[in-house]
Amino acid sequence: MIWNKAKECMSRDELAELQGERLVKLVKYMYRNVQYYRKKMQKLGLEPGDIRGIEDLDKLPFTTQEDLIDAYPQRMFAVSGRNIVRHHTSVHRTGIGAIAGYTQRDINVWSECMARSISMADLGKKDIISIAYNYGLCPDGLGAHYGAEKVGAAVIPASDCKPAVLIALMRRLLATGIISPQPYLMRVAQEVEDKGLKNCLQLKAAICGGEHWTEEVRKKIQDRLGIKAYDIFGLNELTGLGVACECECQNGMHIQEDFFLAEILDTNTLIVLPGGRRGELICTTLQKEGIPLIRYRTMRITKINYEKCECGRTMARIDRICESTDDMLMVRGNSVFAIQIETVLLNLQNINASYVVCIRKEHHLDVVDIYIEIDSRKREMLSESEEAVKHRVADAVSNVIGLMPRVHCVSCDENQSYIENPMEKKVIIVDERKY
Ligand SMILES: [Zn+2]
Repeated sequence: MIWNKAKECMSRDELAELQGERLVKLVKYMYRNVQYYRKKMQKLGLEPGDIRGIEDLDKLPFTTQEDLIDAYPQRMFAVSGRNIVRHHTSVHRTGIGAIAGYTQRDINVWSECMARSISMADLGKKDIISIAYNYGLCPDGLGAHYGAEKVGAAVIPASDCKPAVLIALMRRLLATGIISPQPYLMRVAQEVEDKGLKNCLQLKAAICGGEHWTEEVRKKIQDRLGIKAYDIFGLNELTGLGVACECECQNGMHIQEDFFLAEILDTNTLIVLPGGRRGELICTTLQKEGIPLIRYRTMRITKINYEKCECGRTMARIDRICESTDDMLMVRGNSVFAIQIETVLLNLQNINASYVVCIRKEHHLDVVDIYIEIDSRKREMLSESEEAVKHRVADAVSNVIGLMPRVHCVSCDENQSYIENPMEKKVIIVDERKY
């Protein structure tokens, strides 16, 4: 179901015009109300009148996490404190994260985004939805809650339940949907499988957020629960959950582009990339009042697909976010993501092995060593020689990193591994240049 056809299915030309109008207003609003941002524009010799539409977007400076740290909390607010109706933040071991301040209109926009997302998962007013996100300082639980209420669903706020308790609740209340972080949903799915409860539930869909998850994990969740699981994306700085969400096609998350203007940046050249190219997601919050952000560098890596989706929505789609710029490695000047190395190694056919990839410096040059750990019992089962395996591994990884690695086969007995590996990961990447 499409919650807001007028917006979600508008033509790309109409959308560009709307985004342009909103951007022009936003820049004037920021210039007038946020001294920190006004100073950034003045440094570049920019005035609000220089921005006449989205074609002028690249004249505007980026906003980085460092800006937020530098200016937070008060110097990024565009309204006075009495207009802020809600604060959220996150608490880390190192302290309090960025403060998010919402006006009532910000809350309304967020609810609209979540209502659209929930409708994409084909959940609506006849549904009973459990929300397993945290309802505390972190905004995700409340955002999901308001969206579910907006579509008219009944809500089970279940943020502090153990999986077994939530399953019992969902059975008793005949819940049909769940909105949950991916690791928690996986625990629920495992419990359902272990106890053989799949057919006792009425669940039909899950909306599931979290980074670093894969298609395999989605498939496991779907199979174990007998449902469809939809990916959702949000960031506290932008608003919370619901910036983008998957539709029934499960082929990328539709960005709510009337609220968030998205770009993809090449992090090496700082040049904006065209659709289909991977880079850092940059977002401008077109309608936010409390703490609007212009060209915010999210540090999340994805790509944008502008083609119209089979579901009928015209809003562009982003790929699942599976890396952040923190996961980026530089090898002899080329940027490469750990997950790219992991993916090529795990996709090699007929090699059942674990890998340790070491990046180190020798004579001031980056070199890469790959240690293939093959269980001694499985070594005999290899259908090709060790040399052939080494060649295949070297070729696959060199295609990704642009450098031929040295490959070594090492013995691995059950209790003796090359490296401590408590998570039992199949690929471990060690960047020794950091030590
Ligand atoms: Zn779609």
